[in-house]
Amino acid sequence: MTEPVEQPKRRCILCLSLIIGRTKPEHVLLNSLGGRATVRNIICSECNERMGRGPDQDLADSVAMLRNIGNLLAGDGGTPPTIHGMRSKDITFDVRPGMQVKPRHEGKQVRIEKEDKAINIAVVATSEPELQKLIGNAARAIAKDLGHTAPEVIEAIRVDLLRDHKRNDAIVPAPSIRGQFQFGAGRSQQSMAKAALVLWARLVGCEEVAHSRYDEIRQFIEHGDKPDDPTELVKLDYRALPMVRMSSAATPI
Ligand SMILES: [Zn+2]
Repeated sequence: MTEPVEQPKRRCILCLSLIIGRTKPEHVLLNSLGGRATVRNIICSECNERMGRGPDQDLADSVAMLRNIGNLLAGDGGTPPTIHGMRSKDITFDVRPGMQVKPRHEGKQVRIEKEDKAINIAVVATSEPELQKLIGNAARAIAKDLGHTAPEVIEAIRVDLLRDHKRNDAIVPAPSIRGQFQFGAGRSQQSMAKAALVLWARLVGCEEVAHSRYDEIRQFIEHGDKPDDPTELVKLDYRALPMVRMSSAATPI
């Protein structure tokens, strides 16, 4: 049997507790911001989860609309979020990635009402292909009762729509939706500061970042507390910077 290799002890750069075992990979820049680089054993699992529920979530939320509009994939290739429950002109919409607007239908999209000798079909669609599909469904539902085939009924509906110029009423126009970009909203700045500190720790090591001169930035990342002069969250002005590995530093020209 081989002895397990002793891993170097590391401290979480936020709570300074010793990291036991191996943490799950954590994105340096949020996955939702397109970040692909991951690190381990820089932030402990507890802090990672707490940040994920708080500041990281605020940052992800603040770019959700932007990702939706631009159809911007996450770092792991995940699709952008759907924006749920937007309101416009008393209609509630869900906005799928790429600004695909889908009204929430309180009732059915297709309503078929029989009146003496007439059959009324009401269809709510948001696009031409969807309208065609729903008319096809309606036609198949009533074809047997009418003693016709579905294509014949579809044709009859089509002629009826063209004759009475009902078609425009059948397509719900895309609503104008007002969305807000809230860059820096909530605790998202704490998440950005965390990403910067993780990058720094990756460069100079966790022991350096565990030093008390990083306490103010830790306070800000964890609790949002800013010192009197928020431009000086970390002071590294009077001592030599720790050795930066050349493999990580910029290549000199
Ligand atoms: Zn921690």
